[in-house]
Amino acid sequence: MPTCQNCNKEWSWKQTFIKMFTLDNSMECPHCGEKQYYSTKARKRTAALTFIFPFIILLNMFDISLYLSVGIFLVYLILMVGIFPFLTELSNEDEPLW
Ligand SMILES: [Zn+2]
Repeated sequence: MPTCQNCNKEWSWKQTFIKMFTLDNSMECPHCGEKQYYSTKARKRTAALTFIFPFIILLNMFDISLYLSVGIFLVYLILMVGIFPFLTELSNEDEPLW
């Protein structure tokens, strides 16, 4: 789970999950209210995860049933959402991606 770089308190899965849906790059720490950003490392990890997505679409080119492809897609979505808070790492500053 991500730890606030300002107050060193750990965010819960639920808190991180809620922060996932903010469009802003910054997330406010639920403990100290200080702004936190995704670290570059965490952003690269999540980018790698989303790279899997086209492969799932490619699966549809094979002759599998619609139900199966929708099922795979749902499992992937649930996994993504479930794993995401574990991959999140916080930084005090908005780091450049590269
Ligand atoms: Zn904090």
